[in-house]
Amino acid sequence: RIRVRYAPSPTGHLHIGGARTALFNWLFARQKGGQMVLRIEDTDRSREVAGAEEKMVDALRWLGLDWDEGPDIGGKFGPYRSMERLDLYRSLANRLLEEGRAYPCYCTPEELEAQREEMRRRGVMPRYSGRCRHLTAAERRRLAAEGRPFTVRFRVPEGQTVSFEDLVHGTVSFETDGIGDFVIVKSDGIPTYNFAVAVDDHSMQISHVIRGEEHLSNTAIQLLVYDALGFPTPGFAHVPLILNESGKKLSKRDESVVQFVEQYRDLGYVPEAVVNYLALLGWSPVGEREFLSLEELVQEFSLDRVGKSGAVFDPVKLRWLNAHYLRGRPDEELLKLCLPHLVAAGLLAEPPSAEDLEWARRAVELYRDQLEYAAQLPELAGWLKSLPDPDPEGERILEDPSARKAADAFYQEISALSQWTPDGIHAAFKRVQKTTGLRGRQLFMPIRVAVTGRTHGPELPKVLNLLGREVVLGRLREYAG
Ligand code: GLU
Repeated sequence: RIRVRYAPSPTGHLHIGGARTALFNWLFARQKGGQMVLRIEDTDRSREVAGAEEKMVDALRWLGLDWDEGPDIGGKFGPYRSMERLDLYRSLANRLLEEGRAYPCYCTPEELEAQREEMRRRGVMPRYSGRCRHLTAAERRRLAAEGRPFTVRFRVPEGQTVSFEDLVHGTVSFETDGIGDFVIVKSDGIPTYNFAVAVDDHSMQISHVIRGEEHLSNTAIQLLVYDALGFPTPGFAHVPLILNESGKKLSKRDESVVQFVEQYRDLGYVPEAVVNYLALLGWSPVGEREFLSLEELVQEFSLDRVGKSGAVFDPVKLRWLNAHYLRGRPDEELLKLCLPHLVAAGLLAEPPSAEDLEWARRAVELYRDQLEYAAQLPELAGWLKSLPDPDPEGERILEDPSARKAADAFYQEISALSQWTPDGIHAAFKRVQKTTGLRGRQLFMPIRVAVTGRTHGPELPKVLNLLGREVVLGRLREYAG
């Protein structure tokens, strides 16, 4: 039976890397008719951020993902937060202690640092020296009687190779001699990630662990725990790192990329686009397809087609995908998506009046083919509301003597125009072309800049039509002075 899990630590917002891991697990589960578990790994108290779990849950649901068991909905393998499972970890740690597979370590943080320093000086990879591994039973009793704080360390077998078949990377091996005796329970009684995760994956009957490649070396450690506890091992699939444009591992501090799912939501991206993009981050479908819905992804996803090498995060492609999905939205939905951004930019009152709404509707209609995400609309369409000052290039265009000529002639034509439609306006341009001899840029640019304040924009007849004749005449009069 297929059971997978997504196991975030509640340390902040949902990162695109975490969202991708969640998505791959979810696709795998849904395709195989398996189950998806959400588990919150909250043993690292120092990194915990209040409210993070709730925010992650919201962001996952916004993406369209769900789970069969989790802290918010329960399930028969709960509880689903590590800190609510301390008894289980404690009893298994005690078992390892009794069997001599783990031992109490009384080294203080200062002593540990001194040991590491010493190893660095000798040029060896710093790891636990093994000092408390060799304490006699009498020494242990004495230290315990003194009430000294201790951690529980795993006794790593010497001279062995830990190997596993990764479903993405093939055979992966680590030498145990490179792994120091690691802590499984800290002095405050809280387990470390590597211990808790092995216990949880086993006790929750997880069949496949799908997670980021940065966990490959942790897998070796976890396999030692599985072995010591006599647990059968699940399948493993480590999905490739996410890289920035310069090919380096994307760091959360890298400001060139928007990295959190909530930020995409707040910028007016749609979940279909984000999910579609995340799926292509390390996986590719058969053939050349780029647009895939969640349902199609469930059909087509396979771990076989997950790549080994890092996946470069390309914000331009994500915007392009989003633009595609925005274009597919009905007008009213697109309007709903854009309204909060227009309000935030001060272009609409809150709540918007009927007139405001009509204006917003026109703005959306005009830019729906160009919009990459909803938050762009105020910047694109602000000129519809009030005429901005032209930029230097626009200034130059308006100063040209022929500009005045074009504007005057166009003013006359449209004042008399019987049909205020894009076609009617187009015909007016044709007539101005004939009477003035101005054509192309010389004719269109002055009108565009005088009426919109900009040198770029959608098709001019369409723009003018939407602005309305009165506004266009007014702005031309303003320009003519
Ligand atoms: N809590 C770990 C993390 O957020 C989960 C790693 C795993 O999936 O085992 O990286």
